[in-house]
Amino acid sequence: MRTIGLLGGMSWESTLEYYRIMNQIVKARLGGSHSVHCLLYSVDFAEIEVLQHAGQWDALTQVMIAAVRRLEQGGADCLVICTNTMHHMADEIQAATPLPLLHIADATAQSIKAQGLDTVGLLGTRFTMEGDFYRGKLENEHGLMVLIPDDAGREVVHRVIYEELVRGVIREESRQAYQEVIANLAANGAQGVILGCTEIPLLVKQSDVSIPVFDTTALHAQAAVEWALMA
Ligand code: GLU
Repeated sequence: MRTIGLLGGMSWESTLEYYRIMNQIVKARLGGSHSVHCLLYSVDFAEIEVLQHAGQWDALTQVMIAAVRRLEQGGADCLVICTNTMHHMADEIQAATPLPLLHIADATAQSIKAQGLDTVGLLGTRFTMEGDFYRGKLENEHGLMVLIPDDAGREVVHRVIYEELVRGVIREESRQAYQEVIANLAANGAQGVILGCTEIPLLVKQSDVSIPVFDTTALHAQAAVEWALMA
């Protein structure tokens, strides 16, 4: 088994999920007391979110690359960035390291296409919903049609992520607000919805929604384990 390098702490609430899911999959595959080989470098998310909201993406890229160096030095065989938003600088990170970066949007798109869907809604931070780095990859490299919520919908989805989910707060009112946003996406033609922020699966489950949900945390963790078990 190869060693998965996790760049986490964004937030730690979802990084815990990666660790749990990866170990559960390894146990299911190999049985007994098998567990995952991984390294985790975890940042202080308070520092990250300030830079994000100030639009300091170049500074964030340097923070990410410095963290990748630590994972390289620790002996990681690949790189898993445990957040959708911080794939903003995935290309710059990949250019700076020989480690293969297992992109969260690739894992997600493969699952969507395996279910035979071509039009999906996307929930995430404003950076993920409104920028090109994520939707562009899904549309241009995977041929998917991606719908995002209207401005009011994006506002509530973004606010709940930063004010609640990354702080471990799960509220029923917020679940209902997300259900409404997803229902609007479905009414506009979304056949499924990407939970494109790694904390959203802590709030919204498949059982809360009538269309298929794509849990990026679980799909990314699964792709990482499959990669690690190939050798
Ligand atoms: N974990 C979230 C994501 O997947 C948001 C936190 C962040 O901004 O990195 O996008």
